[in-house]
Amino acid sequence: MPGLPLPVPDEDSQPFWDYCAQGELRAQRCGSCGVFRHPPRPRCRECGSPDFEWVPLSGRGIVYTYAISHQAVHPALVDLVPHGVVIVELEEGLRLNSNIVDCPVDEIAIGMPVQVVFEKAGDEITLPKFRRV
Ligand code: ZN
Repeated sequence: MPGLPLPVPDEDSQPFWDYCAQGELRAQRCGSCGVFRHPPRPRCRECGSPDFEWVPLSGRGIVYTYAISHQAVHPALVDLVPHGVVIVELEEGLRLNSNIVDCPVDEIAIGMPVQVVFEKAGDEITLPKFRRV
């Protein structure tokens, strides 16, 4: 997707993107209460603890909800509409905004099992996307 604006990692999210570039999906898990944090942030929303570890995730989940975009909201998307924008609920319980690949948009369904795949989107960014299983 040449020209599409990509995520800009910050101090908190850089490790997430580094793991994606290595083909690993990881999330912060609170070192105090064990709640997952996503997007990455400096403190736990539940207990306020700054402690965390980057935990490997299964990459498996389901489509929690989705929308089909019929309008190109950015010029780089003109050739890609209609496309599906999904929220995936991972087995570990956290949710990610992403896209479904290799699936016609009219076959995307809530509850559809999916597995993460990684799509290199530039020198610095590899995006976690999902395909049905
Ligand atoms: Zn916590």
